[in-house]
Amino acid sequence: MKIESVAVHACRLPPSSPWEDATNKVQGLEIIFTEIRTDNGLAGFGISYTVDIGGTAIKALIEDYLAALVIGMDPLDYERIWNKLNRQSRRLGLGVNSMAIAAVDIAIWDLIGKHHGQPLHKLLGGARDAIPAYISEINLRTDDTVEDLLQRVDGYIAEGYRTVKIKIGREEIEDDIERIVKVKERLGRGGKLLVDLNQKWSAAEALVRGPRLDPLGLGWIEEPMLYQDIAGHAALRRAMRTPIALGESLYSRQQFLEYLKADAVDIVQADVAFVGGITEWHKIAHLANAFGRPVAPHYMMEMSLPLLCGVQNAYMLENVIGGSLTELGLIEMPIVIKDAIGVPVDRPGHGIVPDWAAIKAHELTPGRVRAGFSGGSK
Ligand SMILES: [Mg+2]
Repeated sequence: MKIESVAVHACRLPPSSPWEDATNKVQGLEIIFTEIRTDNGLAGFGISYTVDIGGTAIKALIEDYLAALVIGMDPLDYERIWNKLNRQSRRLGLGVNSMAIAAVDIAIWDLIGKHHGQPLHKLLGGARDAIPAYISEINLRTDDTVEDLLQRVDGYIAEGYRTVKIKIGREEIEDDIERIVKVKERLGRGGKLLVDLNQKWSAAEALVRGPRLDPLGLGWIEEPMLYQDIAGHAALRRAMRTPIALGESLYSRQQFLEYLKADAVDIVQADVAFVGGITEWHKIAHLANAFGRPVAPHYMMEMSLPLLCGVQNAYMLENVIGGSLTELGLIEMPIVIKDAIGVPVDRPGHGIVPDWAAIKAHELTPGRVRAGFSGGSK
């Protein structure tokens, strides 16, 4: 089996409900799809994404450079392909190139599944048939009241969710504590609340504010401070009992290794699109397992679902309101969570089939972003 062609499509559209956290107000999700065809008639689909910025660069990197490197290769040789792309793009550092490699690598794994007639979670180890999901909202607008929040939480409970993630990071810690206490009360016994700061606090603030959340019994505190600050996270972890979750801003297994060695993370949240695809994500999951840490990947619900069902140390699936490919209307066959349990689709490969007409309707072109780009970072 040989790769014959690589096609790339990118689109930009807002989340289907507005997203605002402590450090960012999202304007547009930029999602990159690839279609890799082989000489025996198979088509594999790859996915990657970025938030607000860089989608055109990712698309160009694949089209102008990476595609040529993989044409003629056998998709079953995923290690050879991944390492070739990684080595060739190392001058670019980490980030845009690992996002571009992900869009190729995910299509390669889709092809491997289709070649063997097996769903992705079986290829990765088939550790389980289903995974519990949590609902994740991105809503820290200044006009969002505690009553608004509790009304939404009632809706999540009605959908069957017992674990909920909310954004915190208001100027006054008392405002965060009020939201946490009320939501915890609403979730009741057996409910679990997770909070996400999106790197809002300084390291010094985290040491003062973090331990104040300890008595509240949170499931985890996510990205409390700047993602590069490994020593700061290690110090915070020693100073508080609440588990620390992070990883959505890390791009390689080496970065995760540094965090694990420093005892600076409890829950590993590698994002399959940011770390360079399934090949690297799988290694990070096993690395975390060696340190006794569970994985709860960031975002990418439809893609994270089979990944989690492949590995032993899976924790929970994140279902971000307004951001699944299904909610965005970008895939042909919807993949939905019922009663807060994710069940992988029973199709060869990862089971995600792009809706090319819908993607085309939101096409991302360099001209379009140049004409009206306004970033959302606060
Ligand atoms: Mg987060």
